[in-house]
Order: sequence, then structure tokens, then C-alpha cells
Amino acid sequence: MVACPSCESQRTVKNGRIHNGKQNYRCRDCGRQFVQDPQTKVIDQATKDLIDKLLLERLSLAGIARVTGVSELWLQRYVNAKDASVPRPVTVSAKKKGA
Ligand SMILES: [Zn+2]
Repeated sequence: MVACPSCESQRTVKNGRIHNGKQNYRCRDCGRQFVQDPQTKVIDQATKDLIDKLLLERLSLAGIARVTGVSELWLQRYVNAKDASVPRPVTVSAKKKGA
């Protein structure tokens, strides 16, 4: 499955190929067309921890991206996701798991 880089939906469909022969995809949820980026790699937890520290230092996103080797796009989304999760924690009204 290929996840949409915009909304992370997995309702994506193949949408032909682009000029260089790469598979193009289209997201059925937000309509975005995209090509899978072979340079996109999973960001490991150590890197995320480092990014969290750097964010606290008020470094620019561009600076953090350079230092940690992640893409600015990824970093922007990471920060947005964090921002979204902080002020309004969406808690599912379910019992707490385990303990
Ligand atoms: Zn989408």
C-alpha cells in the first residue's frame, strides 16, 4: 500500500506514469497526485528525539532538517502533527489500556 503524503490515506490508486517512468499515484481522499519518493526513509526514534531537542532550542526547521538529515517537508509535517497533538489531545473514550 502506498500512503498519501498529504493526508496519509491509503486509499490511493495508480495513476499512470510520469515522464521519467516512475509510477504516479492519486489519492482518492484528497485528490493529490504524487510519486513515491525513494529517498523517503523511516525516521528512527533517535532522530526524532534529537529533533524534539532541537525544536526546543528554537532552531529553524531548515536548520534542523540540515542537521538531522530529514527533509524539510517531513519535518514540517512532523511539527504540525506535534502541534496538533499538544493543545487538544483527542482521547478516545475508551478504557485505559493495561497498566
Ligand atoms: Zn490524500
